[in-house]
Amino acid sequence: MPSRRDLLVGVSAFAVASAASSALAGGAKPPESKPAGDKPPESKPPAAGPFTLAPLPWGDADLAPVISQNTVSFHYGKHHQGYVNKLNELYVGNESLGSTPEAIATAAYGKADKAPLYNNAAQAWNHAFYWNSMKKNGGAVPTTGKLADAIKAGFGDAEGLKKAFKETALGQFGSGWAWLVNNGGKLSMVKTANADSPLWTGAGTPLLVIDVWEHAYYLDYQNKRSDYVAAWLDKLVNWDFAEKNFG
Ligand code: MN
Repeated sequence: MPSRRDLLVGVSAFAVASAASSALAGGAKPPESKPAGDKPPESKPPAAGPFTLAPLPWGDADLAPVISQNTVSFHYGKHHQGYVNKLNELYVGNESLGSTPEAIATAAYGKADKAPLYNNAAQAWNHAFYWNSMKKNGGAVPTTGKLADAIKAGFGDAEGLKKAFKETALGQFGSGWAWLVNNGGKLSMVKTANADSPLWTGAGTPLLVIDVWEHAYYLDYQNKRSDYVAAWLDKLVNWDFAEKNFG
């Protein structure tokens, strides 16, 4: 059985900065000693922290018109960036929990005193997984191969899978996520609230996710979550990513 790391090898929208890039960014560089009388020290931005937001796996206008450039810009540049920034802030003093958002979220899950750290680590990971769950001109459900067989066994056919995906996404009351997950070769749909992921709740290995927080669709669809989910399924799903995660 492939390891969790292998299953999630495709996740690329965040990264832990290397020591070299931290130094380049200036956040972690120790102050240089300067001779007395040198110019006053420049005011420095806050320490960058170890976690950075990696580039999106596609151009920010590539998902339009299903998801507009405006939505991507806010969702990635403000929301996802905000989670990463807050994670860096809250990570100070919690380094022993882990060195990746996934490890931190897993360790902090269910711990009331770690809830803010959990929420931001989890959201940093969830959003990276969401970006990778989409691509330009996606949506073609596989018809051959191991995943296609599992879809047939679990949902009958592509339409059955889409129906289950829609019901799950629309059945999540309030903010959350709808996931296609794998449990030992058996596929199912899982909904989670707020920042939760099946990866650490134990509900299965994620293959795909759709964000159903209002910030994911409100600019383009207002309250019509069902239109967003239907268009997402038909036109954006990155089934290559799902196949990679299925192993
Ligand atoms: Mn979101």
